[in-house]
Amino acid sequence: MIGIALIISNLILSIIIFGIGIKVYQVYRRKYLFWFLVSLFLIPMLFLYSLIEIYNSSIYMALLYPFFIILIEISVIFAQKNLLSSLRTEEGKEYRMLLKEDIALIRAFEKVSNYLIRKISPLIGIKSIEDLLEDASEKYEFLKNCYIGIDERLETNLLEEKIDIKGIKIEKLSEGFSYLLIKLIDLYAAFVPYEKILEEMRKEIGKIDKRIVKFFIPFSLFKLIIEPIIRKCKGDEIKEIRIAADIEGIYINKNGGIEFYELYRYEDDKIQMKFLKFLERCYPFLIRYFGNSFYEEITKNFRALPSNVKEEIYKHGFIKSLPKGVLEEEKITLMSREKLIKELIDRKKKLEEAYKRLAEAKLDKMKSKFIDIIAHELKTPLTAIKTYNDLLMKEKLGKLNKLQKEKLGKMAKNIDKLTNLINDMLQIPTIDTKELELRKEVFYVEEIIKNIVEEVEGIAREKRQVLKYDVDSIAIEGDKKMLEKAIKNIVTNAIKYTREGGKILIKAKKDGKFAHIYIQDNGIGIEKKELEKIFEPFYTGDGGGVGLGLAIAKNIVESHDGKIWAESKVGKGSTFHVILRRIE
Ligand code: ADP
Repeated sequence: MIGIALIISNLILSIIIFGIGIKVYQVYRRKYLFWFLVSLFLIPMLFLYSLIEIYNSSIYMALLYPFFIILIEISVIFAQKNLLSSLRTEEGKEYRMLLKEDIALIRAFEKVSNYLIRKISPLIGIKSIEDLLEDASEKYEFLKNCYIGIDERLETNLLEEKIDIKGIKIEKLSEGFSYLLIKLIDLYAAFVPYEKILEEMRKEIGKIDKRIVKFFIPFSLFKLIIEPIIRKCKGDEIKEIRIAADIEGIYINKNGGIEFYELYRYEDDKIQMKFLKFLERCYPFLIRYFGNSFYEEITKNFRALPSNVKEEIYKHGFIKSLPKGVLEEEKITLMSREKLIKELIDRKKKLEEAYKRLAEAKLDKMKSKFIDIIAHELKTPLTAIKTYNDLLMKEKLGKLNKLQKEKLGKMAKNIDKLTNLINDMLQIPTIDTKELELRKEVFYVEEIIKNIVEEVEGIAREKRQVLKYDVDSIAIEGDKKMLEKAIKNIVTNAIKYTREGGKILIKAKKDGKFAHIYIQDNGIGIEKKELEKIFEPFYTGDGGGVGLGLAIAKNIVESHDGKIWAESKVGKGSTFHVILRRIE
């Protein structure tokens, strides 16, 4: 007996929860509520589970079920306290955030319509309004779900419920309700001066939520800006304007009321364009009837717009295209604001760039300075070591045995290596600056090549390599020491990256106004993709070097307006080319 009572009560509870869930889901935005509702729907699921348990003749689950429900309900209510209270009062951020746009729109239209209905019904009775609604329902099917309640108010609840099922678009809703609103205003205007209606409408529209105010823009433009002026015209003047301003989607009725609801079928931009076109057509007539005061009037109407609408309209900047004389001050501020923003953005960009450059320059300078200090600090003790080593080797500090001599010879070699490295390091600060200080003189290419060969011959011989040169007599002007260093770097590489018994050939030929120097080897070669990188500072292959030799060479050659590049085949060898301007 208890079991059956429990099942029935649990079943009722579950159905109620399910019903509430679906109702809430229809009205409010799904994305916010989805998980909330999923958690709520767990309760009926729990119930199903309890049924299974009862079936398995365990009564505990059925007893626990109501207890669970109460627990979950309490926690949900606590968690959503603010949300629920704001939903109930239809105020607050949560409410606006959660309400779906189309429902919010229906409610806004309902409010504005009811405001008018309240004013109109004492004047001609509710019947005329019911007729009007019927007429509108014929044109817009969905309005059949709206009715005038016993409290003489327009009710839209039914529509709210069906809107999802019927899939009515928000634009269609705006169109239908605008139709209704326009007719209501027309009815009201038969009894009350339009100026008064205008004022009341501004107040009502001003209360509309920011999210949907966009759908009241056409209403504001036509009803609040231009219609008050047209309504001031005489009968035949209205007729004239009606004919001239015949634009698809816009229609002026014989009282001067503008009907524009079909415009909702167009895109936002197009609606604004249509308004501008309409204004342009009415313009000559209104100027003729009202003279310059027309400008003032229309400007005044624009300025009097409620601020939510104004914000929306000014956001699009379409007021810049309004005819001359209308809203001039606003145009200027709008334009200067845009200009100002643009200028600010430009400046920000420039500043960012400048800052970046500054940071880079600072870092580069720091790097260079650091290397400079280290190199100098190393150079001084190294010179002392070298001097003592020389003295020792020359037996000026006492006689040496064979082994000692041999070890000192090795030391001398390493000292030389270190000295070269430090000299290279000292050149780093100048690698990136491009502009080397050149001590120029005129000399023959042969001179430097001979010097280089003399210097490196020993190492080549050790590797049993053949080192040859074939140099024409070519005079060039440049920093002899530096150019010698550049070519020496290339030649030492050729020796370094060529196996024992290999061949290295240095050639220098006249090539028009230039001297073309080749350094050829039949060494290990360089991969194609590395050919561009080898001239970058600190780039090294597998050779275990520091990666400065070629970067320095390139910098020196380019400071002489020359060119340097390499050609190579892996396993076959490499050829380095240097081109320098020669003197004839
Ligand atoms: P380092 O020799 O100290 O590594 P370089 O700037 O002189 O630095 O050379 C950069 C890289 O270019 C070398 O590591 C090497 O891989 C490659 N390279 C230079 N010359 C040759 C050559 N003649 N044959 C093969 N590879 C070379």
